[in-house]
Amino acid sequence: MGYINVSKDPEKSLKNGYLSTTLLGLGQTISVFAKQLFKLEESVTIQWPEVEYKYSERFKGAHFLTKRPDGQVRCTACFLCATNCPAQCINIVAGQSSDNGIEKYPVRFEIDILRCVFCGFCEEACPVDAIRLGPEYSMAGLPEQKWVYTKDYLLNRSEIKKQVGAKQVSKKEENTKDASVMSSLPNIHKSSGSGH
Ligand code: SF4
Ligand code: SF4
Repeated sequence: MGYINVSKDPEKSLKNGYLSTTLLGLGQTISVFAKQLFKLEESVTIQWPEVEYKYSERFKGAHFLTKRPDGQVRCTACFLCATNCPAQCINIVAGQSSDNGIEKYPVRFEIDILRCVFCGFCEEACPVDAIRLGPEYSMAGLPEQKWVYTKDYLLNRSEIKKQVGAKQVSKKEENTKDASVMSSLPNIHKSSGSGH
């Protein structure tokens, strides 16, 4: 079995390790500080909140619920998102839909955002593209703020939907219009259409 010989000689350690590396690090810090102070080098620190960082389009931030073309909630209260949620922070109460083709709808749909770990499993599990994680990453707030996102809030997040824009259209609907995507799907998916 291999082993590493660690010197316990404090004098040797001081000379070869602690002191030299500490001074080296200190020198590096002072040099960067001076360069940025005198504007010789661009700072890499973002001046939040005046300057916002631009994350990738694939960034998974706070959730929103999508709507069907008729303006109704797309969610069919199947509980797949809640079942797959590792933080168990999705709470759904299902009701009977008046639309026979849909069967169920969420009477209540809540996400306890403080428990959420933003894993995206809910988005992945949803068979009808009803729940998405949007680009919002700034969620700081005060304790008295409401941290349980309700169905109405998730459905009508104008600021997020503005950012998402045209992407609000269901990916599944887009795919069903795309012949190349449809031709690559097994028959079982082709026959199910958009699910509505
Ligand atoms: S992102 Fe993950 S933790 Fe958050 S609600 Fe969805 S499944 Fe749960
Ligand atoms: S959001 Fe999607 S996965 Fe969750 S209950 Fe609604 S339809 Fe099912």
